[in-house]
Amino acid sequence: MHSFGYRNGTLHCESVDLDALAEEHGTPLYVYSKGTIIDHYRRLAAAMNEVDCHICYATKANSNIAVLNLLAKEGAGFDIVSGGELFRVEKAGGDPGKCTFAGVGKTRPEIEYALEKGIYCFNAESEAEIAFISEVAGAMGKVAPIALRVNPNVDAKTHKYISTGKSENKFGIDFEVIREAYARAAALPNIQIKGLQMHIGSQLTSVDPFSEAVEKVAPVVEELKAEYGIEFFSIGGGIGIVYENSLASGDISWWNEHEESPLTVEEYAARIVPTLKKLGLKIILEPGRYMVGNAGVMITEVLYEKRGSAKVFKVVDAGMNDLIRPALYEGHHDIVPLKEDNSGDTEAVDIVGPVCESGDFFAQDRELPIVQSGEKLALLSAGAYGFVMASNYNSRPFPAEILVDDEVAHVIRPRQTIEELLTTEVIPQ
Ligand SMILES: *Cc1c(COP(=O)(O)O)cnc(C)c1O
Repeated sequence: MHSFGYRNGTLHCESVDLDALAEEHGTPLYVYSKGTIIDHYRRLAAAMNEVDCHICYATKANSNIAVLNLLAKEGAGFDIVSGGELFRVEKAGGDPGKCTFAGVGKTRPEIEYALEKGIYCFNAESEAEIAFISEVAGAMGKVAPIALRVNPNVDAKTHKYISTGKSENKFGIDFEVIREAYARAAALPNIQIKGLQMHIGSQLTSVDPFSEAVEKVAPVVEELKAEYGIEFFSIGGGIGIVYENSLASGDISWWNEHEESPLTVEEYAARIVPTLKKLGLKIILEPGRYMVGNAGVMITEVLYEKRGSAKVFKVVDAGMNDLIRPALYEGHHDIVPLKEDNSGDTEAVDIVGPVCESGDFFAQDRELPIVQSGEKLALLSAGAYGFVMASNYNSRPFPAEILVDDEVAHVIRPRQTIEELLTTEVIPQ
């Protein structure tokens, strides 16, 4: 389910009129639906209820502390990739004891901080890292809980920038040598072996690669359970979402009856649970995009129209610094006007931002309803890897973020001011 659709001629998020909201708070503006996030969490948990499933939300997908707080209250743990994310989780009321720490480049201060806070597990990505974690833990008189991330060499069939489970990717330890890596880790003095982790990529639109990876790695998990008494198997995140035609009917109720993903969580669970169940272990999931992607939109205003000899450009007030997915990995976002257009008239346009880069576009040669300067557009499915990847490039302040709860719109981050942009800069005297 997601809660964006037209009501009385304007796009709504739950019961909030987005046109009025954008008038009040300005653009560019991120808006998230609380109901959608909670619904997705509960649906995934319900789909996996035949195993001892623990959801560690991938914080990096959308790390606003209001979003983290919603999930913490639902009982979620968190998959973090930096000390900064651990700090956020704590501020949001999350439990460090339910945090797993991923990433190929953990630093000493980050490892120390995580050990002090008592995180659930470090998911280590190389033998050098495990040795370093052991050393840092030893110096603190502690034992570090670790899992190794295995790279199962499975093709996730997703964009090359978000594929992580092939041998040529920088992530994880090669499947062929994982047993030896565990043996060496077990011999280190300040390491406690807790589990095995994998994550093969993001935005997977088929269940096949997940099931292939689970089938391939499950026998190793059984061996590790017998040998080291591991307590969990984390199968990572990666569940893909619908980016195209996601507002097909334009009616919120339509969404309550249809699937939000090209691969449904029920289908996902049905394929992998039988194998996972036999392991008799705690199963950790690390969904990011699935939880928040369809729960957010970015609203932008059309500033100018430019009719060139080859193209029609609509210049909008949001740029690649606000939402980089199209520029970074050809990410698609459906674009719809906030005022419903039933005329059926469309034209092929490029939607471009104000940033001085040719990569600064949101759509190219796309048939869209005809919109005039001053009208507003919503880029759909912008809740994941949207605001979190925003930058101040071109000295553009960060957009505001709003969390909608039925008819109430909470500002969860006010728009950054230009003064705030400069507060930490210094001219040497
Ligand atoms: C990014 C990431 C995730 C989340 O991926 P999604 O595609 O957003 O579900 C999970 N685990 C790890 C280790 C990651 O790096």
